Amino acid sequence: MDRYSRQQLFAPIGERGQQSIREKHVLLIGAGALGAANAETLVRAGIGKITIIDRDYVEWSNLQRQQLYTEEDATNRLPKAIAAAMHLRAINGDVVVEPIVADADARLLEHVVARERPHVIIDSTDNFDVRMIINDVSQKYDVPWIYGACVGSYGLSYVIVPNETPCLRCLLEDVPLGVATCDTVGIISPVVHMVVAHQTAEALKILVGDKRINRKLVSFDVWHGQYRMIDVHKLKKDDCPSCSERRTYPALQYENETKFAVLCGRETVQIRPAHRGEREWTTLLSFLTKRGIQVEQNDYLFSFTVDSHRFVVFFDGRVLIHGTNDVQEAKRLYYQYLG
Ligand SMILES: [Zn+2]
Repeated sequence: MDRYSRQQLFAPIGERGQQSIREKHVLLIGAGALGAANAETLVRAGIGKITIIDRDYVEWSNLQRQQLYTEEDATNRLPKAIAAAMHLRAINGDVVVEPIVADADARLLEHVVARERPHVIIDSTDNFDVRMIINDVSQKYDVPWIYGACVGSYGLSYVIVPNETPCLRCLLEDVPLGVATCDTVGIISPVVHMVVAHQTAEALKILVGDKRINRKLVSFDVWHGQYRMIDVHKLKKDDCPSCSERRTYPALQYENETKFAVLCGRETVQIRPAHRGEREWTTLLSFLTKRGIQVEQNDYLFSFTVDSHRFVVFFDGRVLIHGTNDVQEAKRLYYQYLG
């Protein structure tokens, strides 16, 4: 089969490298712009398995840069993990694609990594707390991970190899990783692909066992033509709570309370109930219907609108309330309609 012939001709991969890629499993956190492009590249490259964790569904504003998704996905409000899996299977039927529609919290990530033992974790999230969880899980289970971030026309990437490189927490004080997580300054698609080019090139090296991993932090601006490689190896901290001998994995401490979080730049509050899992939704749906609220539903979520607020309820209990940045207001609405 000559499907991978061009990739095999590339000497650092070769036939053996291709076989190695085929046996490997990648865990992808986030299926937005970075996630969609990472997933497509690796699936086309012929990896064995990819697990995709994402909590969101496809919206129209995603289509400009989240290359796997179509207008139909947005119309149907398909969860990104599900839509991505569908398109990826159509691209390469040999790859096992496992979508997980959920928030990438400490409990879930640790569970998945302990169970699946992926060969590399790729960060495609835009959320700093999630990156700290990935960072701790990576150290605890000795799995390399590849940080990636972008905003506007600016991007960053860095490979963290446990017991070798400084971890992301080691860099926090010294390196400006503070890529704004808000959508407020916008983003252009080319910077996404630049970050993904770095992430997937390093991922392929890890998957074929090539030791020439780039240990520098890469930062660039595709609009202004700037490109920098920053040597960070001296920044490894002897007392880092994530990667030193005295590690405590602070991001893996679970919390058991209902959490309300403003999703920056999106006029949305996310609610993660303390008690997860399948809830008895029939009672709630009839309660809403009796109040004359029209509920739309697909296999993964239901949604309804009250005044200017749109509620999206995933069947694992997680809720998005669109149309507010106010946690107090979101709490009131949540307990009024869904509590
Ligand atoms: Zn560290």
